Amino acid sequence: MAQIKILPIHLVNKIAAGECIERPSSVVKELIENAIDAGAGKIDVTIEQGGSKLIRVVDDAAGIEPDELPVAVAPHATSKLLDENDLYTISTMGFRGEALASIAAVSMTRISSVRPEARAGGSIEVIDGQCSAVRPYAGAGGTIVEVQNLFYNTPARRKFLKTPATEFGHIQEQIIRTALACPRIAFHLQHNGRTVLELPTAETLRDRIGDVFGPELAGPLMQVFVQDGTLGLEAYVCRPEDAKPSARWQYLFVNRRPVRDRYISHALREAYRGLIAADRQPIAFVYLDMDPTLVDVNVHPTKSEVRFVDPGQIHSLVLGSIRDRFLSTDFPARLMPDAVPEPASPSGHGRDAAGLKQSVTNALADFLRNTGSAQPNFKFDAPRSAPKPTSGAGQRFPNDPAVVTGPRQATEPEPVEQAQTDMGPSLSSPALQIHNTYLVVETSEGFMIIDQHALHERVLYQQLCDRLKAGSLPRQRLLVPQVVHLTGQQMAQLDAIKSKLNDVGIEVELFGPRSIGVHSLPALVDQVDAGEFIEDLLGRLEEQIEPEAEQTVEHILQSLACKAAVKAGDPLKPEEIRTLLDYREQIDLTSSCPHGRPTALRMTLAELQKRFKRT
Ligand code: ADP
Ligand code: MG
Repeated sequence: MAQIKILPIHLVNKIAAGECIERPSSVVKELIENAIDAGAGKIDVTIEQGGSKLIRVVDDAAGIEPDELPVAVAPHATSKLLDENDLYTISTMGFRGEALASIAAVSMTRISSVRPEARAGGSIEVIDGQCSAVRPYAGAGGTIVEVQNLFYNTPARRKFLKTPATEFGHIQEQIIRTALACPRIAFHLQHNGRTVLELPTAETLRDRIGDVFGPELAGPLMQVFVQDGTLGLEAYVCRPEDAKPSARWQYLFVNRRPVRDRYISHALREAYRGLIAADRQPIAFVYLDMDPTLVDVNVHPTKSEVRFVDPGQIHSLVLGSIRDRFLSTDFPARLMPDAVPEPASPSGHGRDAAGLKQSVTNALADFLRNTGSAQPNFKFDAPRSAPKPTSGAGQRFPNDPAVVTGPRQATEPEPVEQAQTDMGPSLSSPALQIHNTYLVVETSEGFMIIDQHALHERVLYQQLCDRLKAGSLPRQRLLVPQVVHLTGQQMAQLDAIKSKLNDVGIEVELFGPRSIGVHSLPALVDQVDAGEFIEDLLGRLEEQIEPEAEQTVEHILQSLACKAAVKAGDPLKPEEIRTLLDYREQIDLTSSCPHGRPTALRMTLAELQKRFKRT
């Protein structure tokens, strides 16, 4: 047996670093939290190669005395906790006193700092756990922390770093999370020499949300504001019709600290229950302020999780206040057709639930009324770009045999009467479109109801996949490029997948710092609105974070198919219906659209007879 020994301090630090410094974004998090705690008005972050080469954070805050610099990088050294009681009433972002020590243990770190009232400051370097002597440093008031070659001395961890684009994605997300809660602090983020995020000081939380995600997103958000004793809630939440395909736009803060919390997330979902489709998520920025003794932030080294003394109280505050806000709001009655209202839950919000149910019922009635009024052919007759000759069927279903995959590829579609398969449509009688959304079709065994959007999406997706696999996804150059405006964050996100887009025939060019031009699209879907497509695609990719992953191409094709497909509410001409049903037989039929929603519901004659008690 080996002798028991106390570990040398540089090893202790390396082990501790493993806990709070997981990847470059963890370094950025710790450094900007330090700048905030020191009272920064502006924080500048410079990143090179996803942070593995350089992370530099510059602030204009209180600075560190030269002779305190070596102490700042010592483990468990902090100016933020004086005694044990402070631990239970933490009001600063940091308090563990281990971030700088941990960072310095796994990188080459230089800290240069000047107290604003002093004329000169100091600078130290820490390499391999060895702190240099303090050298004089003259610069503007504030602190510069430079972290080079992160994990150079922990090869196992360095190996786990993802590509620079992925690591930078995490860094950017980290800064956004923090910045959303500190509107008074200006942030600037640059990667490999390019500015990605430029957030000026903002007056209000809403202004900051707008600077990050664009005024189109921030403007329509509804403000929720409640003060219940020491417990305060300020939230910005979307109207139900603006809900997004992922939970990416949900940000939760407790005492201005970004957190994840399943109670708050659950309360949000409950608040929108019945008002949005099952596959949608609300946009929500939720800021809770509470007595620090009622929440424990010291649960996890990265402090991203908290523990509430009374989680039930937080849950009902969030749920109740958002519902109250809905009840006092007149929504333009519009509802996803598949947002079926759930039965009211007996959860102490009986009055609210009943009111909500009523508004959902009204909205549903309005939806059905509105979509009933036909707007003939507006989609099909107004091609957005490079008009093509129409051939009987509409633009969306070009009657081009090359487009059709499968055994009948080379021939004109056969007369539909003969195109009868076991359960497929038999169009001896024409298909009936109801509510401009569903197609009712007689089959040999009974009938079926097809969701026109889901089916078209499925068909397009299959065709895109097949053609890509066969190596021929022809691109259509647009006569006039479609211009799309994006946030800096979206720009970076898009930049990371540019080559994947090009692989499927989508050429994108930077137009300005916040806009791009789309020059070509796959010919099969060249009518798609590039703005809608990119917004949808980036939404799908948000949860993935790794732009080079295999699924990116899948997401691109799904998003294209979704946005190019006819929508619920689009009236279809009889020949368009026929073409669509015809395609249905030619694709490899599984019964789901790319999201896994069913495309068709079937009913047999036997079932009908049973229902009508004919047996
Ligand atoms: P903690 O933030 O938990 O106190 P850190 O290791 O992150 O621990 O920082 C140690 C100490 O260094 C802080 O308590 C603070 O006094 C000082 N410090 C770190 N960064 C800055 C900064 N940007 N400006 C001023 N002081 C700083
Ligand atoms: Mg800190």
